[in-house]
Amino acid sequence: MGVLARHWERSKDGKVKCLLCPHFCVISEGKSGLCLIRKNVDGMLQQSAYAEPCSVSVDPIEKKPLYHFKPGSDILSVGTNGCNMHCRHCQNWHISTQETTRQSTTPEKLLHLSKSNSSIGIAYTYNEPLVWYEFVYDCAKVFRDSGQKNVLVTNGQINPDPLTELTPLIDAANVDLKGFTEEFYKNEGGFLESTKNTIEHMAKAGVHIEITNLLIPNLNDDEDTFEEMCRYISDISRDIPLHLSRYFPQYKSSQKVTTEKSLLNCMKIASKHLNYVFIGNASIPEKADTFCPGCNKKIIERTGYQTRCLTEENICPDCSHKLSVLF
Ligand code: SF4
Repeated sequence: MGVLARHWERSKDGKVKCLLCPHFCVISEGKSGLCLIRKNVDGMLQQSAYAEPCSVSVDPIEKKPLYHFKPGSDILSVGTNGCNMHCRHCQNWHISTQETTRQSTTPEKLLHLSKSNSSIGIAYTYNEPLVWYEFVYDCAKVFRDSGQKNVLVTNGQINPDPLTELTPLIDAANVDLKGFTEEFYKNEGGFLESTKNTIEHMAKAGVHIEITNLLIPNLNDDEDTFEEMCRYISDISRDIPLHLSRYFPQYKSSQKVTTEKSLLNCMKIASKHLNYVFIGNASIPEKADTFCPGCNKKIIERTGYQTRCLTEENICPDCSHKLSVLF
């Protein structure tokens, strides 16, 4: 369903300029922006996938991944087509790079689905939710009003004004920090500064933030740059969970799979700066578990998507260290 988009202005010759993300696409009549689902229709910018998800599922929250926000719970997860980056290794390229069959829904129907599945709320995920801005915003209001949670799984590519408008509705976010140079981001079709701004803004606003970094051999695993990224996160808070995700060849990428040695080495570097570092997409014993930063007691055990919390308090039962886990 097409609805009038927010955050745009008229340009010359019937074109429109989208102000939602740092690409600032200038779009001719009948054409789409880089993200596919924002279109110039009759000289006005439309959100063309409003209330039309192509993927709807109830997932463990650990799958987002969020490890320290309501661990062990389920969350309704929705996504549509389109993305404002163009990563060569995209895992969801079949929905992010082309328009597919979508179903019509409403925020109220999704709310009913969430409640009837004992889900804690809704995660906007699978594709890039920020390009679905109008629906995410409206749906988030309905979920917030009913006491349910709103979760964003995002690349963080959004301009300050729309970010400021959306943030108060968001309870938790996993932000993909894909690398730590503008050059790397440029090659993936994005802007490092924008993602950093999103992380900083949301953290300051009190949104529960976790960060994912997909480690790709030879592309973003330079040790010095990686450590600089960890220092940057630590300067915001040592308690931000960092998920080091193992890369597998996908879509247009040809790099080899990340080795366990590289994952463990990066985990060691990150752990100098951060209290909670995890390895994902790999079955390495205990590397997806949460340990107390004070005394190293195991707090949460994870096997695949099976989660066992060994306490329900955010205070370590052995050493009383304050844990940054929202049970
Ligand atoms: S949100 Fe989409 S249309 Fe708007 S500037 Fe970004 S890529 Fe372009």
